Amino acid sequence: MQPYKVDPEKPFKLKKLDANHVGDWEGKKKEGKQEFHELQQELADLQQKLYAEHKHQLLIVLQAMDSGGKDGTIRAIFEEVNPQGVKVASFKVPTALELDHDYLWRVHQKTPGKGEIVIFNRSHYEDVLVVRVHELVPKKVWEKRYDQINAFEKILAEEGTTILKFYLHISKDEQKERFMERLTDPKKQWKFSESDIDERQYWDAYQAAFQDVLEKTSTPWAPWYAIPANHNWYRNLCISTIIVDTLRSFKMKYPDPIPDPDKYIRALQNESSKDGEN
Ligand code: AMP
Ligand code: MG
Repeated sequence: MQPYKVDPEKPFKLKKLDANHVGDWEGKKKEGKQEFHELQQELADLQQKLYAEHKHQLLIVLQAMDSGGKDGTIRAIFEEVNPQGVKVASFKVPTALELDHDYLWRVHQKTPGKGEIVIFNRSHYEDVLVVRVHELVPKKVWEKRYDQINAFEKILAEEGTTILKFYLHISKDEQKERFMERLTDPKKQWKFSESDIDERQYWDAYQAAFQDVLEKTSTPWAPWYAIPANHNWYRNLCISTIIVDTLRSFKMKYPDPIPDPDKYIRALQNESSKDGEN
């Protein structure tokens, strides 16, 4: 999955990324789903260890165009995971209180503590995406934010947080299909908002904003992965592979709860033999 990592040292061209790409898994959807299922299980085991060991923090950032699959990714990948120790933070239009502070204020409060995985459904990147596209602040304000974000993420990383950022790349045609599906399925209509159609008019401006995000804020301490996301099964496979590889690299161990468990085992065994006598 390394080809999808945005190399901080090399130029990056979002236009060259094919949203339909399925790599070596062409014609192998069934096998891909099976592999994903195994990764789901392994992720659940690794998360349990992360929680028990209480040593590492993992932050996962998800960004995409509307209908890009952020919600679906969270649902699928963390399906098997114990909800204790995994949190989702969704960032919406800022409240009045949030707008009274700097844009990182609301974000920093939601970063993971030791033993935790936190998934950001949207993030501080909205402050150089929707904010830039709609000029919600002047250019001279948002253009400084790329460096600020890199510095902020560096603090998190140096203080022990591992950061993985995923941009889910869908095509404009795929977005149309997904909106159609939302509009025609009563169970999905709630996900559609009128602003989705307005936002679609700004497709090119958003793509340009994503291009800059990916190029300017993929760093050794907080890399971006630009994932082809027209096919949900492939998107899930890519993202879960990267998360599982990262958790494996932590080489975690279950902590020893007490120095001499045998003492308590003997005590409990004694207890049952006495019970047997009674
Ligand atoms: P959804 O994720 O579909 O529930 O929509 C959340 C909405 O909040 C999206 O339209 C985002 O663009 C918007 N949003 C998130 N963060 C910000 C921000 N910092 N400034 C303005 N709008 C934002
Ligand atoms: Mg929406």
